[in-house]
Amino acid sequence: MFKTCKRKFKYRYIDKIKPSTQSSSKYLSFGQSIHKTLSKFNKITDKNIKTLNNLHNLLRSNWIREGYRDKDEERDFGLKALKILTNYFNNPLDKHKKVLITEKMIYKDMGEFILCGIIDKGFLRSDNKLEITDYKTGGIVTHSNDFQIDLQLPIYVLLAEEYLSKYPSIVSYYYLLHNKKIDREVNNKNINAIIEALWKRFNEIKNENTFPCNPNEYCLSSCEYSSICEESTNENAIIANELKNLDNSKYLF
Ligand code: SF4
Repeated sequence: MFKTCKRKFKYRYIDKIKPSTQSSSKYLSFGQSIHKTLSKFNKITDKNIKTLNNLHNLLRSNWIREGYRDKDEERDFGLKALKILTNYFNNPLDKHKKVLITEKMIYKDMGEFILCGIIDKGFLRSDNKLEITDYKTGGIVTHSNDFQIDLQLPIYVLLAEEYLSKYPSIVSYYYLLHNKKIDREVNNKNINAIIEALWKRFNEIKNENTFPCNPNEYCLSSCEYSSICEESTNENAIIANELKNLDNSKYLF
């Protein structure tokens, strides 16, 4: 979050402002509903219960209704969630021999700060490697197969080690909407770089004084702090940001 919008990070983690129920984002509700559903589904070991119908019913019993404009919109999102889960059920890319963690909040004392985060799923693969996967419910795939160390990765590596006393061999991002999983290998060679990346980000946060906004066209619909953020409707800032982030080398013209 610090990377995508420093102001949002400040609202959440420094000012500790809780988003009001009224301003809850439908995307947040949608994402949390799917996460809770998969967490419970991943705990089931009895094949007779682990059915598509029960997966769908778990979605219904874990559905968060806040944030939708009206019943029609809520229904559309519900149908989309059912489709995502059906695709997952028919072709899960995170097949496990044994599940070790599901949707677990883990804390680790780093001395200067407390690292915390939720691990969506930690599991032993058929080759006995430990994999930590993070479910993504948004539409945009932000990682590629050769993605570099981002902030999430060291968090998962260290939290997994804290909870299981073992570094994972793989950290993956599972884009459920596309049923696409992107893996990153963790090994002795890159573990130090992973830990260094975390400290680098910690120092960036520690030395940040202004926490600038980074508005985009989705602020109003997806940021739970848009009602208190002065930049959420600033069209000039939104367009200037879009232009600033444009990578000209990607285009043929
Ligand atoms: S509304 Fe946009 S700019 Fe403001 S805090 Fe949220 S994400 Fe950042």
